[in-house]
Amino acid sequence: KLFNEIQELKGNIRVYCRIRPFRPTEDEKSTSIEYIGENGELVLSNPTKKGKEGGKNFTFNKVFGPTTTQGTLYKEIGQHILYMVFKDIQPLIRSVLDGYNVCIFAYGQTGSGKTYTMMGPDNATEKEWGVNYRALNDLFNISHDRRDTIKYELGVQMVEIYNEQIRDLLGSGGSQKKYPSYSRFVFYVVTIHVQGQDLKTGNALRGALHLVDLAGSERVDRSAVTGDRLKEAQHINKSLAALGDVIFSLSQKNSHVPYRNSKLTQVLQTSLGGHAKTLMFVQVNPDVSSYTETLSTLKFAERVS
Ligand code: ADP
Ligand code: MG
Repeated sequence: KLFNEIQELKGNIRVYCRIRPFRPTEDEKSTSIEYIGENGELVLSNPTKKGKEGGKNFTFNKVFGPTTTQGTLYKEIGQHILYMVFKDIQPLIRSVLDGYNVCIFAYGQTGSGKTYTMMGPDNATEKEWGVNYRALNDLFNISHDRRDTIKYELGVQMVEIYNEQIRDLLGSGGSQKKYPSYSRFVFYVVTIHVQGQDLKTGNALRGALHLVDLAGSERVDRSAVTGDRLKEAQHINKSLAALGDVIFSLSQKNSHVPYRNSKLTQVLQTSLGGHAKTLMFVQVNPDVSSYTETLSTLKFAERVS
């Protein structure tokens, strides 16, 4: 029954936009964000055009403005998804413990707050915890609450993808390869695998939660880039484009989904599509100087939402 209800729902992809606040060094007056609506509306203004003419409208499941705290974000996402997608069935994280695969990732240019949303700031206090910590915390708490009916085993895997090579960060014997200091073209994937066994019926279940801090989505000027750095940029662009294509074809309900075009989409395959649930944070810089990147970020997100 639960399965049928979820099948009926319009799709299992949700896109949330988050605008990061200005940093102390930035000029608050020079924002490209013109309007944030209650129902997911966002208007981006073009700095070179004045007034209505330059405004571009976008709609997402919800837009979180710069004053949104980590706690509010997590709570609202939970409630919002509960209400919109799963009605009164299950919030997102809980569904992992029911045997679903869930993928949460953050997309946006470098400096737009991807890591802040997923992990939190460096040395985060509990209040500043990002989605990762909160989700893990919930998984442990809920599995503990269910200990009399289901026996759970949780496994954590951490991998990174660099130049289409997957490296296990927790496994033994992993080479401690150092990347060039300028390198920001790395995808981090935390995955939590859940196995449960119903103590009464003996039935087994499996679920997984992928939490992905994507590499910066900025377009790299090819003419300004050579050698290793060009290779990195090409791999990045390829992976992000492949991710966009996969999510787009899922949102269109295409029968063929091009998972095999990048390592990233191969790793995430079981958590994108099928009965899996996908949540994307579109991270946005508020300042005018980021306008071009912001526009391309929002267009990427619009295509898949
Ligand atoms: P990215 O991972 O996309 O490159 P970061 O998460 O590192 O970006 O964010 C860039 C800077 O902005 C960091 O110093 C981060 O702490 C700060 N920042 C980002 N989002 C927020 C937010 N919502 N509230 C407060 N500071 C933030
Ligand atoms: Mg980051």
